[in-house]
Amino acid sequence: MTTNDTSESDILFERAKSVIPGGIFGHYKYAVRPSGPKFFSRAEGAHFWDVDNNQYIDYMCAYGPMILGYNHPAVDEAARKQHAEGNTVSLAAPIMIDLAETLVDMVDAADWALFGKNGGDATTLAVMIARAATGREKIIKIDDGYHGVTAWMQAGTPGTTEADGVDVITLPWNDVDALESALTANPGKIACFISSPYDHPVMRDNTLPMDGYWAGVEALCRKHGIVLIIDEVRSGFRVDLAGANSAYGFTPDLVCFGKGLGNGYPISALVGNDALKSAADSVFFTGTQFFNAVPMAAAKATLEELKKIDAANTMTRLGTKLNEGLVNVASQHGYRLNATGIPAMPYYRLDGISFEAHTAWIDECVKRGAYFLFYHNHFLSTAHTDADIERTCNIASDAFAAMGSPDQYQE
Ligand code: PMP
Repeated sequence: MTTNDTSESDILFERAKSVIPGGIFGHYKYAVRPSGPKFFSRAEGAHFWDVDNNQYIDYMCAYGPMILGYNHPAVDEAARKQHAEGNTVSLAAPIMIDLAETLVDMVDAADWALFGKNGGDATTLAVMIARAATGREKIIKIDDGYHGVTAWMQAGTPGTTEADGVDVITLPWNDVDALESALTANPGKIACFISSPYDHPVMRDNTLPMDGYWAGVEALCRKHGIVLIIDEVRSGFRVDLAGANSAYGFTPDLVCFGKGLGNGYPISALVGNDALKSAADSVFFTGTQFFNAVPMAAAKATLEELKKIDAANTMTRLGTKLNEGLVNVASQHGYRLNATGIPAMPYYRLDGISFEAHTAWIDECVKRGAYFLFYHNHFLSTAHTDADIERTCNIASDAFAAMGSPDQYQE
């Protein structure tokens, strides 16, 4: 099997570097590999093509937003229809109410919804509402939990100050005792606990909640009057369409959605319970583009389609099949592949060999048309097919063959 030529990507990357700091910025820059594709030319379903016309089965799904497939006809049709009526206008569109009603119907923890553009809008707004409701300042988050790029999220990195982090307490994942200690040490000071429903850090195995973890967290939040915020920006609609908390058996106060909500159209949402409705109304948080009607129409169509095709279970089935296939192919070549996290968002790590060797295997897969990423969890969509997965396993097998014996890469 031949491997991809990516010379046009490299030419564009050189051009980009002269007018864009870093050439490619933000989270996309970490995916830049010397031998890899850097710019796409088109996308359809579960596939994209790079500027050298190489086709990839996409297991990053634009880092989550692509959940029904690129260019989904029902979503694009709803967007086109709304576009003909108007998008960014001096008044809100009725589609905003339709979308809020759809979310309230679908998501167990939702009595109301507010909208933004990026996931970070939803998490920032959630924390502001928690502070407004409690009159307290401090936030508890999980050590390597990611909730966007606001200063409190990344205090001490270039462009932020240490002071940005003074109200942020970080705790280990799956540790109810650590939460209890933090609450006892800060009486009357904690506004909220914010966490994704399971731990999906970068560069590390992902970890599901232990039995009793979320019940324990919820009980402590209730006891101490703390707002429980679940960040489903990444996991949204891939664990359970009613919210991951429904699958994990607890009730949050606020839930943040982004990414998959609009199948690629720019929209995020914060949903919450009635107890926080007036605090939500008191917070000033907005943006020029927050009222774009086209992404709202796209999001409503996305949610309806997700429900119609039982999307979370579909992606779980596809992800389970991919995990089993890859683990099996790895072992045929003498490698051990760890697949962690939920099946619809698998994190892969080759066990017992160096991280560089793991990365080299990912590069070999990408060169052959399976778009994986070496440091991040992956994403399934409902557009992936059994044939895609079978082809991916063949690609993975060829990639292992190109690597040779694992003995040469022992840690
Ligand atoms: N929360 C989580 C769990 C995320 O994965 C992300 C994005 N990777 C965000 C928040 C921030 O979302 P956005 O990049 O859309 O602001």
